Amino acid sequence: TVRTRFAPSPTGYLHLGGARTALYSWAYARHFGGTFVLRIEDTDLERSTPEAVQAILQGMEWLGLAHDEGPFYQMQRMDRYREVVKGMLEAGTAYLCYCSPEEVEAMRERMRAAGEKPRYDGTWRPEPGKTLPPVPEGVKPVVRFKNPLDGEVTWHDVVKGPITIANKELDDLVIARPDGTPTYNFCVAVDDWDMKITHVLRGDDHVNNTPRQINILRALGAELPQYGHLPMILGPDGQKLSKRHGAVSVMEYPEQGYLPEAMLNYLARLGWSHGDDEIFSMQQFTEWFNLDHLTASAAQFNPEKLGWLNNHYIKQADNERLAGLARPKMEREGAVFDGAPPLAAVLGLMKERTNTINELADAAMLFYRAPKPDAALLAQHLTDAVRPALGQFAERLRDVEWTKPALSAMMKEVLAAHGLKMPQLAMPLRLLVTGQLQTPAIDAVLELFGRETVVARVSKGL
Ligand code: GLU
Repeated sequence: TVRTRFAPSPTGYLHLGGARTALYSWAYARHFGGTFVLRIEDTDLERSTPEAVQAILQGMEWLGLAHDEGPFYQMQRMDRYREVVKGMLEAGTAYLCYCSPEEVEAMRERMRAAGEKPRYDGTWRPEPGKTLPPVPEGVKPVVRFKNPLDGEVTWHDVVKGPITIANKELDDLVIARPDGTPTYNFCVAVDDWDMKITHVLRGDDHVNNTPRQINILRALGAELPQYGHLPMILGPDGQKLSKRHGAVSVMEYPEQGYLPEAMLNYLARLGWSHGDDEIFSMQQFTEWFNLDHLTASAAQFNPEKLGWLNNHYIKQADNERLAGLARPKMEREGAVFDGAPPLAAVLGLMKERTNTINELADAAMLFYRAPKPDAALLAQHLTDAVRPALGQFAERLRDVEWTKPALSAMMKEVLAAHGLKMPQLAMPLRLLVTGQLQTPAIDAVLELFGRETVVARVSKGL
């Protein structure tokens, strides 16, 4: 059975690359009815913060990427790592090394000077028939992994294809420090083993760690997971994705008015494809998702496409849901909802062309604040030629049936009676009722405002 994991280091927010890794790992587990594990790699005490853990959990929750097991915290697994280190020392797959950091540095320096690749020279590595140096007093040893000396490590990367590294390129890695704390690659290997991970999907900044982890897993007698290293996400200019390309933190997107389904759909296609399909639900995605169509080349972040998808999902979204998302922002902007048209209906009318909830909220404000038409604009549109028509219109507003078609028909009659064209009446009306010239269709706007408000505002203007 398939078991995947997402293993973020809580050193900052959940960024787009991390979210995509999480999404693919989640979808792969979902596809097979497997298990998705969340593991927090918090052993870097200097850089890990509880705030970052919260930010990651929040991001996952916003996206709806629910884990089946975890979150596990590496800091809570220290006893287990020590136990495995002990077992490896006993089994002879790891050994104590009493070289001081200065000695190791001097060793590397000598090799560099000799034009060799700097590495640990194996002073304390036990070999049959070899006599080890006398154990120095008062020195706390590190534990080193006994990496194979010859041969190579090969794995078939599900994204990049076969990758081979010669064992002599790999040092005898320190797996436990003098104080006994385990090191990064070792913890990852032990965790993937204990958590019975079958597929590791992660960023390709980890490619160099993989042969080390594979060797450790082999020494532990563990079954190897399959590995897939996802290429970086670049900005539209081909440079490493950064703030200047837009928000890199996932949780800035709800702030800016993006829907999680748009972000998910966007990330799903960023590094994976299913023919020409661009728009699909997560249900569809988990049905389709496999490791055969992952893109090996770096993906480029395209904010316009994300906006386009967001527009699509806003149009699909239930208007009450949109209202719930837009309302807090509008309240901050001073919107008055009392006695005003229902927000859901307004957003439904206006959502066709907006890319974000924030844009939608801004556009909808015209329904929720007192209109302050610009005097010069009003003078320009409310001419003497138009005034009588508007007067008649105002009269008829009092008893016209309050529906869009009836309002529209009545407007046309008034226009015909005065020999005017639609904009000549619609523009001053827009100004008087909403304070602005840009609004959705005037009949729809009037209908939503309701008779009382429209009558009051038009009469006041006349
Ligand atoms: N903790 C690592 C990171 O956040 C990921 C390790 C892994 O997936 O193996 O980059």
